[in-house]
Amino acid sequence: MEERIWVAGHRGMVGSAIMRALSSQGRTALTVDRSILDLRRQPEVEFWLRANQPTAIIFAAAKVGGILANSGYPADFIYDNLTIQTNVIHGAHKAGVDRLVFLGSSCIYPKLAPQPIVESALLTGPLEPTNEWYAIAKIAGVMTCQAYRRQHGRRYVSVMPCNLYGPNDNFDLLTSHVLPALIRKFHEAKVGGASEVVVWGTGTPLREFLHVDDLARGVVYCLDHYDEYEHINCGAGFDVTIRDIAETIARVVGYKGNIVFDTTKPDGAPRKIMDSSRIRALGWKPEISLETGLASTYQWYLDHVAGGV
Ligand code: GDP
Repeated sequence: MEERIWVAGHRGMVGSAIMRALSSQGRTALTVDRSILDLRRQPEVEFWLRANQPTAIIFAAAKVGGILANSGYPADFIYDNLTIQTNVIHGAHKAGVDRLVFLGSSCIYPKLAPQPIVESALLTGPLEPTNEWYAIAKIAGVMTCQAYRRQHGRRYVSVMPCNLYGPNDNFDLLTSHVLPALIRKFHEAKVGGASEVVVWGTGTPLREFLHVDDLARGVVYCLDHYDEYEHINCGAGFDVTIRDIAETIARVVGYKGNIVFDTTKPDGAPRKIMDSSRIRALGWKPEISLETGLASTYQWYLDHVAGGV
């Protein structure tokens, strides 16, 4: 049967990286624009799936955002994510789509999970409150895939990425994640000659960052090779403090002023590094170093967001 992979969310950072990963292997994908299909509308999703008959789905559509966006818009985060994922997973089953890769996030794990976090740590403790709405939706997505596997034998799997960065990220200072926010802040400080850049929190939280092209290769790898009930972690394998990442970004951008920490802003989880030994044992590993990935992401920002400034 001819392969027809639907990449849901193909314009986002993750979805667009998955499109690149597929095309680098000479594979094509089905896509549909948000203006044509709103994934929150169940009958429309079911109609589209029946009409287009994908053979597999990579679910990279999500409402995502950084620490302030998550705590500021809890209803949007839980409603949009629960609705779109449920519509797509249930619709996939009804349309006879037997293969689906659901993308979650390392924030599904308990705030104080032992580090590095193994897959079985899911639902063993309370969540980090700054993003629990998003986390609950993603946990529901993981379990929805498991339910359709258990009841209907569907080969639906879930992949949990760590913090991601790369082209097509959101560089809006209020809603973005830390890495694009700091690229922008340091760039604007350099261009504007500012003497200090404000970084949120204490600088001590640890985060694991993976370039989205590495994740995309991992997701396509899982589409081809992973078919288990339990979700699988996909991370870089090392973490850095927010202070370290700020200093590294300052160096990459060429900003020479001071870095100050605004401790009135939340830190979020103290540490979030995943144990990715299972996906590594399958044969995937990251290939893009943090320095290289940051330099290319800064270049992407200059070309696409900063208007070449
Ligand atoms: P998280 O991994 O879900 O906590 O999401 P974020 O990427 O938004 O934040 C990671 C860490 O970076 C938190 O400790 C933030 O307080 C810190 N941080 C420092 N400066 C910034 C910033 O300008 N924007 C964001 N989003 N986070 C920042």
